[in-house]
Amino acid sequence: MEKNDLCPVCNSKGIKVKSITVKHLVIDELADQISDDTYFICMNEDCDVVYYKLNNEKIFYIKEVKVPVWLKKDASPKFICYCNQVTEQQIINAVALLFKKLLVKL
Ligand SMILES: [Zn+2]
Repeated sequence: MEKNDLCPVCNSKGIKVKSITVKHLVIDELADQISDDTYFICMNEDCDVVYYKLNNEKIFYIKEVKVPVWLKKDASPKFICYCNQVTEQQIINAVALLFKKLLVKL
């Protein structure tokens, strides 16, 4: 158990995601900033943070993630193969959560 994998904003426990996953889901302007580290996805539906990285506390907020576009394109099977550390169910849960966050914002 890693004890400092908590969201820097809300302190909820995150789920690990590979950097390539983050790179594909953040807006293009930010994709260059994604380093080859482990990122986490915040699972707190009340938190504006989507992805974060721990050592320099890089945070990506809901508005910096292009999930709506990605959902419309129905690309979820592609997404799953980018992140073999994460189970399909975790992805489904995470996407459902993101969608909920986005709906709250609208
Ligand atoms: Zn959070």
